[in-house]
Amino acid sequence: MRQKYRTDQQIYKTTESNAIYKTKPWANIRKDILHHEPFCRECAKSGIKTVAVEIDHIKPIAEGGEKWDRQNMQPLCKPCHARKTAREVLHKD
Ligand SMILES: [Zn+2]
Repeated sequence: MRQKYRTDQQIYKTTESNAIYKTKPWANIRKDILHHEPFCRECAKSGIKTVAVEIDHIKPIAEGGEKWDRQNMQPLCKPCHARKTAREVLHKD
């Protein structure tokens, strides 16, 4: 039972911080960032050029990161974003 409760809490938190991704200002920022920096920043560290498709909050909103601060955003490809998000979820536990 305890395990289930914790899982529900996690889902709630995720849904809450995901709300901004559906807003119009977010769509504009996302488009603008990808226009100026079209490649994944994580892959670039390894010298690989991968087209970025997602915007990541460098410091997660759930951990007090600035939601609308462009300095707190970076373009990532899907695999890199998924990897980073998984790491963050594991960290919380
Ligand atoms: Zn990448």
